[in-house]
Amino acid sequence: MKKLALTIDFLLKNTPTSIKSKSKDYEAILKKSNGINWIYNVGDYIVRVKIPTISKMILKKLSEKEVKKLLSIKNRNVLVSCTCNFWKYNGPDFNAATNNYSERFLSDLSDPQVRDPQHKKIICKHVYATLKKLKQDLIN
Ligand SMILES: [Zn+2]
Repeated sequence: MKKLALTIDFLLKNTPTSIKSKSKDYEAILKKSNGINWIYNVGDYIVRVKIPTISKMILKKLSEKEVKKLLSIKNRNVLVSCTCNFWKYNGPDFNAATNNYSERFLSDLSDPQVRDPQHKKIICKHVYATLKKLKQDLIN
């Protein structure tokens, strides 16, 4: 079976160092969350994170305490997207689509053979900053 998301820690760990260091200039500000869909403002862009492991049907059947416990797990599976051009054209949108961690498609998904020939740019600096923040927000 194909994996339908990647974990927060996997994405954070496998982000190229250059993107990690650029992310330090950014603060992810949580705008909206229902525990499943998380929307952050990062600089001029919008980062969306979806935590797809718990369906609404299942959530309805769980007690408040059980839901709270599930949502307190820090290293969750996530789907992500960012509205910046780097995400669209430099690799992340294509890599997210082909590796099943895309929250939504934002480009025509053509393979960025020049800008990311080895498919290493898995996320942009905005998503990196957001996932670090999300880990904190998940605990609270
Ligand atoms: Zn971005």
